[in-house]
Amino acid sequence: MRSRPFVFSEIPMNVTEPRTETPAEQVLHSTFGYPAFRGQQQAIIDTLLAGQNCLVLMPTGGGKSLCYQIPALLRRGVGVVVSPLIALMQDQVDALRELGVRASFLNSTLPQQEQWQVIEALRQGELDLLYVAPERLNQPATLQLLSEIPVALFAIDEAHCVSQWGHDFRADYLQLGVLQERFPEVPRIALTATADANTRDEIARRLGLEDAPHFISGFDRPNIQYRIAQKQNPRQQLLRFLRREHEHDAGIVYCLSRKKVEDTAAWLAQQGFDAVPYHAGLSAQERQRNQQRFLREDGVIVVATIAFGMGIDKPDVRFIVHLDLPKSLESYYQETGRAGRDGEPATAWMVYGLQDVIMLRQMMDSSQGSEQFKRIERARLDAMLGLCEITSCRRQALLHYFGEDSPERCGNCDTCLQPVPTWDGTEAARKALSCVYRTGQRFGVAYLIDVLLGAESDKIFQNDHHQVSTYGIGKELSPNAWRSVFRQLVARGYLGVDHASYGGLFLNEKSRALLKGEEAIALRVDTQEPSEKAVKKARSKHSIADADHTLWEALRECRKQLAIENDVAPYVIFHDASLMDMLHYRPLTEAQFLSISGVGQSKLEKYGAAFLEVIRAHEQ
Ligand code: ADP
Ligand code: ZN
Repeated sequence: MRSRPFVFSEIPMNVTEPRTETPAEQVLHSTFGYPAFRGQQQAIIDTLLAGQNCLVLMPTGGGKSLCYQIPALLRRGVGVVVSPLIALMQDQVDALRELGVRASFLNSTLPQQEQWQVIEALRQGELDLLYVAPERLNQPATLQLLSEIPVALFAIDEAHCVSQWGHDFRADYLQLGVLQERFPEVPRIALTATADANTRDEIARRLGLEDAPHFISGFDRPNIQYRIAQKQNPRQQLLRFLRREHEHDAGIVYCLSRKKVEDTAAWLAQQGFDAVPYHAGLSAQERQRNQQRFLREDGVIVVATIAFGMGIDKPDVRFIVHLDLPKSLESYYQETGRAGRDGEPATAWMVYGLQDVIMLRQMMDSSQGSEQFKRIERARLDAMLGLCEITSCRRQALLHYFGEDSPERCGNCDTCLQPVPTWDGTEAARKALSCVYRTGQRFGVAYLIDVLLGAESDKIFQNDHHQVSTYGIGKELSPNAWRSVFRQLVARGYLGVDHASYGGLFLNEKSRALLKGEEAIALRVDTQEPSEKAVKKARSKHSIADADHTLWEALRECRKQLAIENDVAPYVIFHDASLMDMLHYRPLTEAQFLSISGVGQSKLEKYGAAFLEVIRAHEQ
């Protein structure tokens, strides 16, 4: 039981606004149940309503869909949404139907009979939104059909697929240029979350949007908490992280190899988590089944190689774990970006260590390809390692890399939550580099540390390395501290890794100044992860007080039952954000329920009674 009474005035008053609502606001409130537009949504919608084209660049979770869904509802005719994500169309359409929007899709997965029904509905003017795969849209019959009925707009989602620059190029997207010729009077909106300027220009050129307004939003994802920790015992670290922070949540755990994916998934399952593997070596059936469970059920963890990702549009992914380092910040940003699309708090958590750094450096140097290609790859890896080793705000660094400057520390990354002390590592670094030099620049870290500590091993005696000047000069530091020194030297490019041998280290141009004592170096003290308290505080406005857990679980259970009854994903019933609002405001009447974010007329009618009953029972 809760003592605080329900305070109606806390609820955003979206029903009785003083000034008259515009038609777009009317739809936002009554159909989608949201109190206000976000960011540039309003301006984008106005552009389309005025019959103009536009290009929209918005980060994942920014709210791109509303930008075309609302104009599609307000303009005459059907809004045609082109999307490559066939697997998701069903869920997108389900979600819209839940809102009372007349939506359907056309793609190769739909049985012939149903395709005819959709076409008939189109001809009868019974659809507000139609999702189509690009290959389907490009068929002459489809284009012909659309030319015979009123079309409200064309929305080209994942528009970066048109770009050969990008990583998701799809030949079918190239043909979409035909839309401007065949339907010059129908407004087109292209949408993407891909940042880079080359891709953007190419989209504009190929889709005839050079002269159209471009709406570009910042790339920050403030609800994602970025954390990068030192790898000690990765499984135990992962277990602690999950148990403490994400006990029943859905998330993705990325690993580099298929074997590690399998092992980690099996191990997590043993620990009582609902974890399934996903990698290119599994049968198509098993991949499909595991992906479907992840999308449709609550709290499933997918352990995956990077083969799992594109098209994962699940809004309530609460965490992304990297057990291996991604190769670039581009990959890191894209993969972590799959968390928290619904705007609720989410965590991007990674562990990395000396071995990861050495392995990636080695892989990079032994890769095939031109010198130029390798140079680019190396620069990308440097940036990734740079993010791992910095002692300042991670978000600032990440955004800076993508060309966005933010003056303030973010307060929601590990280095902000727990400032990282540094120490003057100049002397230690010189000893380390000198030891590499004295032993002939061919040994790996373990051996070098043995020499620095003056270990009495056979191998050292055989090599006569108890005679070198660096033998035993490092006793002031522990083996772990030395590993940290070497990791930072390799990560920051002061030591090269030989790819022909087993990770032998060698000196390079950059090490010279440091070795000679002409340069100083500050090293990070490898700290513990931020405390549970600090982590929770950073997301306090969203976290659930212990006393509220019963109601939270009851609301989730109610959602789960409704999802099963209606054969849809739980988030299609309500997003976590809506449940969180219910938890916070405890609506007891229908009017109050309507003020919850995400509750429109249709959802009130369908689910209001069920959730109100749960809340009333709890309040008694
Ligand atoms: P994107 O396609 O840009 O990744 P979506 O369109 O899926 O993002 O929107 C992300 C989430 O934000 C969805 O849960 C959506 O319902 C919600 N959302 C969008 N616009 C608003 C708004 N104005 N107010 C509240 N929630 C919104
Ligand atoms: Zn920060």
